[in-house]
Amino acid sequence: MNYATYEPVIGLEIHLQLATQSKAFCGDDASFGGEPNTHVSAISLGHPGTLPRLNKRQMEYAVRLGLALSSRINLRNCFDRKNYFYTDLPKGYQITQDRLPVCVGGSLELEMDGYRRTVRLHHIHMEEDAGKSIHDLSPRHSMIDLNRAGVPLLEIVTEPDLRSGEEVDAFMTAMRQLARYLGISDGNMQEGSMRCDVNVSVRKKGDTGFGERCEIKNMNSMRFARQAIEFEVKRQIDLLESGGQVQRASLSFNPTTGETSPMRDKESAHDYRYFPDPDLPPVVITQPWVDEVLAQLPTLPKAYFERFVNEFGLPEYDAKLLTQEREMAVFFEKTIKVCASQNVSGKSVANLFINKISPWLAETGTEIDAFPVSAAQLSAYLQLIEEGKVSASIANQRLFPALVESPERPPLELAQQLNLLQSSDSNFLEKIVDEVLAANPDKVAEYRKGKKGLIGFFMGEVMKKSQGKAEPKATNALVTKKLG
Ligand code: ADP
Ligand code: MG
Repeated sequence: MNYATYEPVIGLEIHLQLATQSKAFCGDDASFGGEPNTHVSAISLGHPGTLPRLNKRQMEYAVRLGLALSSRINLRNCFDRKNYFYTDLPKGYQITQDRLPVCVGGSLELEMDGYRRTVRLHHIHMEEDAGKSIHDLSPRHSMIDLNRAGVPLLEIVTEPDLRSGEEVDAFMTAMRQLARYLGISDGNMQEGSMRCDVNVSVRKKGDTGFGERCEIKNMNSMRFARQAIEFEVKRQIDLLESGGQVQRASLSFNPTTGETSPMRDKESAHDYRYFPDPDLPPVVITQPWVDEVLAQLPTLPKAYFERFVNEFGLPEYDAKLLTQEREMAVFFEKTIKVCASQNVSGKSVANLFINKISPWLAETGTEIDAFPVSAAQLSAYLQLIEEGKVSASIANQRLFPALVESPERPPLELAQQLNLLQSSDSNFLEKIVDEVLAANPDKVAEYRKGKKGLIGFFMGEVMKKSQGKAEPKATNALVTKKLG
């Protein structure tokens, strides 16, 4: 089969649940979880005669995201009803934006392995979530939890600019990162705060038109999304190569079989009879308000990334790791600035964060905001290594754990107390070097016959005996002198 002559074409519809306190159109608690059917009111239960009212925060969050993605903001945007019947949708319609969404256009740039891809956005619109139907709690009944009904969502619709499962993964990761930087959503896929519909088609490489597409609904795991895309692309190519045609359909992915299959017609019926919601007048926002939201945007991941690479000379790989979470980027930047003023190299600060601090946070389940050691203390710690007072490996093994335990004490004092300071004291070194040479007469003889590479062996022995405290330069000089 000529798989290599085809190219996947993918567009996403991402649902992002917003971290507002209350729901989109009423004051119900919008937080995740809770006893079933406790975050509800006459409005989210869809009682007749109730009226929705717009949550200003939802509007603000939508504009925040739009501005961060360079979208155009519609100063006048409006709400529509999307009608369908389902038991977890008490009103019989979902409030969404069909004709005039809040944000139009924009793009997000992906840093892939060895290349970049700019993914254009079609638009971003506001809507509300439906409740949750639970089919596996009771053998005879379906259970309905309406806590989620009316929770505010943004739907982000991309142009079909993605070309592989890896790019979809990278896009979702970047979108989650951005949402977290902006503080508009936790982007938690396990809890369903971020999920996406994946539209997939294939075409012959070099073609400019598009093939017919299928839509894989409701993916909330990137691993499954990649599997689903891989399966679907192959299925479509097989179909085309055997003379068939792709039929437009909504599909669901079964993680157990790794296959996609068409959903029941009712779930994918596309006759939503959209019409303007008569209960909600068009929203009019002003340019000064939008400018205010823009002025309050935090520094974005891309700006940190570029600063870390260009200003502090870090490898892109390090910069990527250190900008994953905003709080980490903020604290790292603060630390690297203090360190730079003390002539500690940026790379050693990055190494400390990547190799020691991040693993420590992960092991202890601590958030970076609660990391006990200050930027100034970290700088003092790194200076000890830079100045050769403590060896890097001893610092890693012994001094770092001590510092996290006693974050207020001067690192030098801790190193003294733990007896970790390197010594270039000649009495101390001479004794150890003599012992090492005396214990290895045959190696000494070999060295003297010309096997100069053995210097490494002697250095290693001295280091071991001194428990890492022998200062390497002074030790090397002494060993060479004694052997020569
Ligand atoms: P509809 O209105 O029928 O839902 P849209 O034009 O809004 O269709 O597109 C929905 C999603 O499908 C978008 O993310 C878009 O990028 C994607 N899409 C459109 N055409 C294709 C295609 N040929 N192949 C893959 N994805 C596509
Ligand atoms: Mg659509």
